[in-house]
Amino acid sequence: MSLGPTGSGGPSTAGAPVEGELAGGAVLVDDIGELVTCAGAEGSAGAEGSTGPEGSAEEALGIRHGAAVVIDGGVVRWIGPSGQAPAVDRRVSVGGRAVIPAFVDSHTHLVFAGDRSAEFAARMTGERYDGGGIATTVGATRCATDDELRTLLAARVAELRAQGSATVEIKSGYGLDIATETRLLALAREVTDETTFLGGHVVPAEFRSDRAAYVDLVAGAMLAACAPLARWIDVFCEPASPHAFDADEARVILEAGVRAGLLPRVHGNQLSHGPGVRLAVDLGAASVDHCTFLDDADVAALAGSDTVATLLPGVEFSTRMPYPDARRLLDSGATVALATDCNPGTCFTSSMPFVIALAVRELRMSPAEALLAATVGAATSLRRSDIGRISVGLPARLTVLDAPSHLHLAYRPGVPLAAPLWG
Ligand SMILES: [Zn+2]
Repeated sequence: MSLGPTGSGGPSTAGAPVEGELAGGAVLVDDIGELVTCAGAEGSAGAEGSTGPEGSAEEALGIRHGAAVVIDGGVVRWIGPSGQAPAVDRRVSVGGRAVIPAFVDSHTHLVFAGDRSAEFAARMTGERYDGGGIATTVGATRCATDDELRTLLAARVAELRAQGSATVEIKSGYGLDIATETRLLALAREVTDETTFLGGHVVPAEFRSDRAAYVDLVAGAMLAACAPLARWIDVFCEPASPHAFDADEARVILEAGVRAGLLPRVHGNQLSHGPGVRLAVDLGAASVDHCTFLDDADVAALAGSDTVATLLPGVEFSTRMPYPDARRLLDSGATVALATDCNPGTCFTSSMPFVIALAVRELRMSPAEALLAATVGAATSLRRSDIGRISVGLPARLTVLDAPSHLHLAYRPGVPLAAPLWG
């Protein structure tokens, strides 16, 4: 079900109005069985319905039952009990379904060519992942034309949006030379403002014998060419992989990025205990992603910082590695986000509902914690307060579930319940 504008690349289902039809008119989205605002007490104040204990994840969901939302000009104008809405130009019923904020997918690698399904199949029969397969994608991506990459990217963005995500972060990192990294970022920029320069993904084969020269290139000429096309800079900091970067190399790249006006985020602690988390916190990074192997100092550092711990359990599912300890992070007070890490090597899913189901089943997050992490948590990891929640005055980005409650996201894994409603 898609009631209103779903943005560029967004799918529309049969019977839905085409973009523009509703322009200028106020629309009442009515008969919402369960409205999850993720706006906390503000979202549920004065409304009948359930909220959990003060300060709990359940309270933070800001659930309202029997609610309605007025959208005008792409902005949420009113939220309240069905039947008390102001006059509108048009009323649409969602028939008792649940409505939630559109998911924020804050970590993807969507611009690439080639296929690595054989690598996945080999891994499922016992081979261990060490990050080297990225070279396969780099080779295919360098050979692809802009039009080929644009077509592949559009299909992946449409797939992601069809499953209820409205915001996507996209990294470069499959070019690893100046010409291709800038091409990838320019293509990503066509579909999102949340673009990330990841020249520091791995050391490409042609620099294996001179890693320092590659770090110089990434922090120098490649960064200079890519910075105008990116908001973020990211590095795969993983001393356990011979292809990735150690703490000193990662720091050089990230600090150069900050000087160029980019905001830092880090791939850290994915394959082993290591320096990624503390480097991210030290640099004031918005997010450190993976966080699979953490020691007590890492958890304490995250809990005492504004750096979000972004968990990507689709990777552990697809690589058969141990899952991160989400409970330890949540119980410490760290902010946790969930994202897909959609990429051709370690996790080729675009489904935030699947990630939520994994987080509940395997990471022992509550359904409320998982939904918050996939919306406001992920928004925080992008330093955004205008997405990931439904609140008066914010842009309308709504996802509808073909279910009476958000609990069904994890309760019915693999079932396509989530669809774009607005935005
Ligand atoms: Zn990644």
